[in-house]
Amino acid sequence: MSPTIQHFTTTKGVKITRDAANDPVSSPIFSPLPVNTGLFINNEFVAAKDGKTLDTVNPSNGKVIAKVSEAGPEDVDLAVHAAEKAYNDVWSKTSGKTRSRLMHKLADILESHAEELAQIETLDNGKGISFSRGFDVAELIQCFRYYAGWADKIHGKVIDTEGAFSFTRHEPIGVCGAIIPWNFPLLMLAWKIAPALATGNTVVLKTSELTPLSGLKFASLVAEAGFPPGVINIITGYGPRAGDALARHSKVGKIAFTGSTNVGRLVMKAAAESNLKKVTLELGGKSPNIIFDDADLDEAVKWAHHGIFFNHGQTCCAGSRVYVQEGVYDEFLKRFSKISRDTKIGDPFDEGNFQGPQVSETQYNRIMSYIEHGIKEGAKVATGGKRHGTEGYFIEPTVFTDVKEDMKIMQEEIFGPVVAVAKFKTLEEVIEKAHLTEYGLAAAVFTQNVTKALEVSALLKAGTVWVNCVNQLDYNTPFGGYRQSGFGRENGKYALDNYTQIKTVKVNLTRSTRST
Ligand code: NAD
Ligand code: MG
Repeated sequence: MSPTIQHFTTTKGVKITRDAANDPVSSPIFSPLPVNTGLFINNEFVAAKDGKTLDTVNPSNGKVIAKVSEAGPEDVDLAVHAAEKAYNDVWSKTSGKTRSRLMHKLADILESHAEELAQIETLDNGKGISFSRGFDVAELIQCFRYYAGWADKIHGKVIDTEGAFSFTRHEPIGVCGAIIPWNFPLLMLAWKIAPALATGNTVVLKTSELTPLSGLKFASLVAEAGFPPGVINIITGYGPRAGDALARHSKVGKIAFTGSTNVGRLVMKAAAESNLKKVTLELGGKSPNIIFDDADLDEAVKWAHHGIFFNHGQTCCAGSRVYVQEGVYDEFLKRFSKISRDTKIGDPFDEGNFQGPQVSETQYNRIMSYIEHGIKEGAKVATGGKRHGTEGYFIEPTVFTDVKEDMKIMQEEIFGPVVAVAKFKTLEEVIEKAHLTEYGLAAAVFTQNVTKALEVSALLKAGTVWVNCVNQLDYNTPFGGYRQSGFGRENGKYALDNYTQIKTVKVNLTRSTRST
């Protein structure tokens, strides 16, 4: 055996084999990969009808990890019919209490596979292993527990009406479709599947073609938890083929989408052209991060760094435009550039690294072309701007200054480790600038003046405003966009509305004919 072959067993008993010679960035190679690569329909893994597959790549080194089945319209149809049958035969008759118990059971099983799920996520997506463990997988489990708590608390109201006993029923929609991106594969899966199940729906979910593996691992645990066949179906495939077929399917009553604004438009169009299914969209952002003179600067610098560089800038709510008031601008820029330059970047399986590779070669090229464009338009690079290393899709944390509002790097979502820092004088001016993009997903404000914080929070057109922090999510609080960042709210009680339809029942309390 080659001396470079290493065997590991993780704390959860997952066996890992690594060939250090062929894999110098030291990402583990699972041998065999603990994932079934078929389409998960009716609690079974099946190949695509036409036998097609797609390659998923390790972004740390550009090598193919595995081939997974590539669903076409026929496979989508099979999955939707499985979900419809499961809804009609079993799930619509399953009590909230039972749904809750199954969801808790699944959360426990996910927890017992946490390490394996985290490693698969890091391998396929490139995110740091500590983030996969501490954020993505931990939040996946928490999401199922949170919505398990709602499953037996879905109910309508009694409404006082003249001559009738009136009440509402909050009924499931039936089959719900979900299309998710690659930036938080397990988390986005949980945000879609958990509220759908809690409210009594069945689901067909399409993962991103760039990160299909963690969803397939999740699928293999669904049957173990005891979910009836067809309640949860997970398919892998490309957007324009499998995604479009799902968004267009006449038996799908609702489609939940997270991804780019442009594809969001296509999903809405497909829904409109087919059966007018309900649509919720979580789209892109270009979130402003506003730092006033009276902010705690140490805190502001730390959070601004997290705001943009968390998940390598591949976060829909990334604070990609940092507006700093003139009194603290120079000092902020000095400190912010330093911690950006000092960001540890490299092998995502090394716990010491904060930043790993971008998800794909396409994304890498896209981000690098934004950086080139910014320079061409006259913005200055305070730090970064270049590729990191010689293999994989790593990019240095990049800070631009001297930006103008109409520059492409100030208008478009870059979805990478690239941030622009701009100066402002007054509150009115910064509010105006904050609104100069088409987006409205999130915003942050840093000040120690509570009155100003509340005033600015009310003025900002954004689905979430963070005060003296960024990127803080909680299952109790809703998340979603204003303007072209989408509509509908995920998380919290609000998300239940996306997955229920309301029926009014009126019972006549008057007699139309009197016999006496
Ligand atoms: P995307 O919108 O192209 O893909 C998201 C999902 O939609 C994937 O599962 C994809 O297969 C599917 N899809 C693509 N075309 C489709 C179609 N015609 N019909 C139905 N489904 C379709 O996003 P991406 O390629 O993963 O990333 C591109 C850009 O999207 C990013 O650079 C970023 O700007 C944005 N993005 C935003 C978020 C977010 O959370 N808001 C997440 C990921 C990406
Ligand atoms: Mg991949």
